[in-house]
Amino acid sequence: AAAAAPATDEPIQPAVEIKYTQLLINGNFVDAASGKTFPTLDPRTGEVIARVAEGDSEDINRAVAAARRAFDEGPWPRMTAYERCRVLLRFADLIERHAEEIAALETWDNGKTLAQSSGAEVPMLARCMRYYAGWADKIHGLVVPADGAHHVQVLHEPVGVAGQIIPWNFPLLMFAWKVGPALACGNAVVLKTAEQTPLSALYVASLLHEAGLPDGVLNVVSGFGPTAGAALCSHMGVDKLAFTGSTGTGQIVLELAARSNLKPVTLELGGKSPFIVMDDADVDQAVELAHHAVFFNQGQCCCAGSRTFVHERVYDEFVEKSKARAQKRVVGDPFRNGVEQGPQIDEEQFKKILRYVRSGVDSGATLVAGGDRAGNRGFYIQPTVFADAKDEMKIAKEEIFGPVQTILKFSGVEEVIRRANATQYGLAAGVFTRSLDAANTLSRALRAGTVWVNCYDVFDAGIPFGGYKMSGVGREKGIYALRNYLQTKAVVTPIRDAAW
Ligand code: NAD
Repeated sequence: AAAAAPATDEPIQPAVEIKYTQLLINGNFVDAASGKTFPTLDPRTGEVIARVAEGDSEDINRAVAAARRAFDEGPWPRMTAYERCRVLLRFADLIERHAEEIAALETWDNGKTLAQSSGAEVPMLARCMRYYAGWADKIHGLVVPADGAHHVQVLHEPVGVAGQIIPWNFPLLMFAWKVGPALACGNAVVLKTAEQTPLSALYVASLLHEAGLPDGVLNVVSGFGPTAGAALCSHMGVDKLAFTGSTGTGQIVLELAARSNLKPVTLELGGKSPFIVMDDADVDQAVELAHHAVFFNQGQCCCAGSRTFVHERVYDEFVEKSKARAQKRVVGDPFRNGVEQGPQIDEEQFKKILRYVRSGVDSGATLVAGGDRAGNRGFYIQPTVFADAKDEMKIAKEEIFGPVQTILKFSGVEEVIRRANATQYGLAAGVFTRSLDAANTLSRALRAGTVWVNCYDVFDAGIPFGGYKMSGVGREKGIYALRNYLQTKAVVTPIRDAAW
């Protein structure tokens, strides 16, 4: 049976104390200007973990003013690049020293398994910071051989104050991907965390100050999207925005940026990524990888491989084995060893996912596994598999953001390319095959920002990540993220009395 009885198990008490619940503005933890707070909930039970200061536009004003001062007056952008590098390296060391507490906080607030928080996300946070620390003193411009007697330099300067808005599904990784490149380039930041998961960013931001970050360079405002988030997007003192979240909210963010000061915006949005299993695939391996592609992080991944396309020659075997694999998936308290799947983030997502499951049944897809909540407390959902889905069904078109696999049958390469690309999204794709030709053809034909061939969800700090089409604008990670946080300045001076 799938469910490790979340209903009857007493939730394990996390081994961490909640130290920070206020806003971080100008290096100090402070209450919201309004004095308001909001609860952050334990997704295992729906109970309150802590009350957190609720920032709104007044607090965004304070945070942007602090960031502006830190940028305009220094010392951060004027420190040597090597000094900035060393702050980020010390931060990475502190992350490792406090890894257990950070991981526990992340699992408590988000519901992802402790194995994932401590085995992947905290190490990836430290790795990403070291990656960008390494870039800090390697960002340089160039000299252009202009026509005529002019010395032409191109300088790469920080953009100034970056506003960053992150979602709840990977709070620490989103912090890393946003804050790492922004700070390495010498910017100041105002970060708006997701209202569901405010805790881990406050904790790690305190470590960043312990590592020597000057006051005001990173400000963290907890709060809601339409208030704090929208105020950040519209602020005239913000020079650049980076957003990760849903496509609908991304459109609002872009509009607010355009209507205020035309600040440039990078967006990481939703997806409905295809995972394509060819007929030459080892079916057992394909089943396992396709399973992880969709169920990882409770299915709450923007790049989840949520349309599983399977070649007709291996389809029946694939469906049978995917059903067995989903039924074996261990659901339960994310703090418990051996658990593969914790609760969904909150009641809203939980209900939305169950609505999609009902729509799958109503539209005639075959429910082969799961289909209901798991247990009777918290936001646990059974690993769910649909077979015989059709492209026009909602479950095959819309982002479910939950543990629901939708299996579709295909019979040829050209057909699957056409169907895989017939979506408004283009974040990622998976290809599973032994054929080099199929791998080459598919990886070039698929309109997506990442194509994983015979692997999935590989997220090294150096690999660019982002979407085609309505999955986003721009790229994060790698060298590509640096461009988001740099201005380009041409400096032209005449060369007097040039003899050559
Ligand atoms: P959301 O877009 O509502 O929230 C994301 C962030 O935006 C939160 O911090 C939220 O407070 C803020 N926000 C909400 N309304 C805002 C507004 N009007 N102005 C400014 N900020 C605002 O997303 P959600 O519904 O909470 O999360 C689920 C969705 O997020 C999924 O559909 C998924 O596609 C998407 N997502 C995408 C990625 C990615 O990397 N592409 C990652 C995680 C989540």
